[in-house]
Amino acid sequence: MGTGILTIDLDALAANWRALDRLSPGETGAVVKANAYGCGIDRIAPRLAREGARRFFVATAEEGATLRNVLGKGPEINVFSGHMASDTALIRDHALTPMLNSPEQAARHRAALPDAPYGVQLDTGMNRLGMEAPDWAATRAELETGPLTLVMSHLACADEPDRPENARQLKQFTEMTLGVTVPRSFSATGGILLGRDYQFDLTRPGIGLYGGLPFAEAQPVVRLSLPVIQTREVAVGEFVGYGGGFIANRPTRIATVSAGYADGLIRHMSGVAQLFDEDRVCRLAGRVSMDLLTIDVTDLPVVPDQLDILGPLQTVDTLAEAAGTIGYEILTSLGNRYQRRYIGA
Ligand SMILES: *Cc1c(COP(=O)(O)O)cnc(C)c1O
Repeated sequence: MGTGILTIDLDALAANWRALDRLSPGETGAVVKANAYGCGIDRIAPRLAREGARRFFVATAEEGATLRNVLGKGPEINVFSGHMASDTALIRDHALTPMLNSPEQAARHRAALPDAPYGVQLDTGMNRLGMEAPDWAATRAELETGPLTLVMSHLACADEPDRPENARQLKQFTEMTLGVTVPRSFSATGGILLGRDYQFDLTRPGIGLYGGLPFAEAQPVVRLSLPVIQTREVAVGEFVGYGGGFIANRPTRIATVSAGYADGLIRHMSGVAQLFDEDRVCRLAGRVSMDLLTIDVTDLPVVPDQLDILGPLQTVDTLAEAAGTIGYEILTSLGNRYQRRYIGA
C-alpha cells in the first residue's frame, strides 16, 4: 500500500454531536460544508441524521445538491451562500433552503420560487455575509409573510470567550430578531460553549463534531497513518531532503513515508511536526516534499510499517500549531489520495 490511510471514527463523531446537543436545550443541527470538513459527507451526514440531526448546513447550492442525494427526502438542507443567480434549479430540484443574505437575494428567490422555503442570514458585526439592519428592516415584513424557516447570524470571535465583540454581536442579534416567531440560530461550536444566552433555538456546530477546538472535550475523530516506504542509515554530517534541511549530528536512521504537501501536510510543518509509532514519538527530519516525508526513527526499537501523523496523541489542533495554522485548515486540506476508512456505521 503506497498511500496513507485516513481512519474516520463515526462513533466518535456521533458522541461529539450528542455531547454538543446536551449543552443546549434547543435543537442541534450539523454543519457539513467542504465535504464534511474533509471527512466525507456521504458517510458523515447519514450517521448524524441517524443520531437525530434534522437540519444540515452547507456553503453552496452545489454542496446542497450532493447532500440531498446522500440523505434523500426529509432533512432540511440550508445553504449559507443563499440564492445566487444560477442556483434556482438546484434549489428547486433538491429542495434546498437558501439563507438569504441581501434584499437582492430575497427578491430573486421570491420571484423565481414563490412557494419555496428560505431562511435569512443577518449581519451582526462580522461583515462577511448577511443582511445589515436597514436591509432587514426594509424586507422583514414581506419575508415574514412567506415560508420563512430560520433567522440566523454568525459570531466572529466565539473561540475567544473574553472578546467584547461576542456580547456586542449578541445584543445586535437580539435587537434585530425581536418579535421574530420562527426559530433563531446564532451559534456554531464556539458560541454553544459561551452559554445559554448564545444558543437560541437551533445551534450549528461544525468543527466540534470532527474533534476540533474550541470543543476541548471532543473525542478525536480522525487518525492518519502513513506507510513507511524505505529506511536508511545516515552518517554524521550527511543531509536529508530538499535544501539539506536536516543534517545528522549522530548516526541517524531515516524512514521515508508516503504523504506530503500535496496531501495537505503543508510545508510549514517542516522540521517541527511529530509522528507516532503507537505512543513513541519521532520527529520530521527536514522539509516536507510533495509526496514524501522523512522521519528520524533512530530512537525506535524497530521501524514500524506505518507512522501516525494524526491521532489521539497529535490531534488536528496540535498538528495545526506545528504548522502555524488552525485545525479547520488541517482537516479540510486532507488530501484525496488517502484511503478513507470508517469505524462504526
Ligand atoms: C462554518 C460555519 C459554521 C460552523 O462553525 P464551526 O466553528 O465549525 O462550528 C456555522 N455557521 C456558519 C455561518 C459557518 O460558516
